[in-house]
Amino acid sequence: RTAMHQCQRRLFSTSRSRMTTMPAWVIDRYGSNDVMRFTKNAGFPVINYPNEVIIKVHAAGLNPIDVSMRGGYGAATMAMKRDPLNVLQSGNEFPLILGRDVSGVIMECGLDVAPVYFKAGDEVWAAIPPWKQGSLAEFVVLNANEVSKKPKCLSHTEAAAIPYVAATAWSALVNTGGLSMDNCAKKRILILGGSGGVGTFSIQMLKSWGAHVTVTCSQNAERLVRGLGADHVVDYTAGPVRGPLTALEKFDLVLDNVGGATEGWAPGLLKPWCGAKYVTLVTPFLQNTDRLGVADGMLQTGVTVASKALKHLSKGVHYRWGMFAPNGLALDDISEMVDAGKIRAVVEEEFGFSQVPQAMLKVERGHARGKTVVSVS
Ligand code: NDP
Repeated sequence: RTAMHQCQRRLFSTSRSRMTTMPAWVIDRYGSNDVMRFTKNAGFPVINYPNEVIIKVHAAGLNPIDVSMRGGYGAATMAMKRDPLNVLQSGNEFPLILGRDVSGVIMECGLDVAPVYFKAGDEVWAAIPPWKQGSLAEFVVLNANEVSKKPKCLSHTEAAAIPYVAATAWSALVNTGGLSMDNCAKKRILILGGSGGVGTFSIQMLKSWGAHVTVTCSQNAERLVRGLGADHVVDYTAGPVRGPLTALEKFDLVLDNVGGATEGWAPGLLKPWCGAKYVTLVTPFLQNTDRLGVADGMLQTGVTVASKALKHLSKGVHYRWGMFAPNGLALDDISEMVDAGKIRAVVEEEFGFSQVPQAMLKVERGHARGKTVVSVS
């Protein structure tokens, strides 16, 4: 295996490094937090394609999906993305490394990457797709188009708080919601669940694009979200928010980070018949594929989303699902916004690399006020 590893590196990579193992936090089965295992002998990532880069991880950001994936969430779809020909062989993914955000330094480049796009030593950040090995490790391999130059004004810890939520918000608000810096002025946006990772990033991006932003959150998060620019805040712990939100002028877009019952009434807060959109990030897509298998799960998903979209279209509003999508180009734009002082990292708590289980528990407890980040080196 080591010989094959070295051979692949000679074929596609500019480096002649001989490392074959690295420290990492891995899981060998799905379960609760006690499945997290530290090892010094995780497989060193290999450049398999000439457009890949190996990043030395300095900081890793955690997201709710890490806790969910630790428990097996999305396993069926991820298995298909990793290896479509062996989708029925369970357990191939182990040892699995979690961690969806990385800030670090390029250590090795594929032959198509250097020196045009990146070179060894570049400081970069990226959101790691859930089907790839994550950043709770000393090194990670990614496609160069998933990677972007890190904002100069941020430390690695701060930078690791942004990419996954930023790529998700970009996918939901820009690609799905149709918003951009050129069409946001005076648009009224409602963010349900504004105090966590996606919310704290989205508020800042939308405000820098000139939107009017209303946010729901707990009373004790009001100061945080107002400090990020939220124009109007509704405290969901004071009672049902539907009434106070219905009393407001209607919205051009609702970003739903909460899901559940909100889906029943939140589309009714939109301006009808003028292209307004309800975009929810809380979708049953991966539960469906976990429960029914990939083919039936996707079919079920298609039927569900199509029937909901049609139902809402008849009332004059668009119903959409927002999904994370890796996007190095979006991170380039976001990096500029950060360096221009328009977006800041909201790091709630930083943990050392030996404290990964504690960091996972922190995310699992919920009530996030921004992001949890692990300092790796
Ligand atoms: P976080 O855990 O960082 O934040 C969630 C926030 O919502 C917390 O601050 C929480 O604080 C607050 N909250 C909880 N209940 C309510 C409520 N009823 N009303 C208002 N606020 C509430 O999560 P993320 O921001 O990272 O993600 C948000 C959601 O989006 C998650 O459900 C996540 O799974 C999903 N997601 C989906 C993706 C996709 O590809 N579809 C990608 C990324 C995220 P408190 O409880 O103290 O009020």
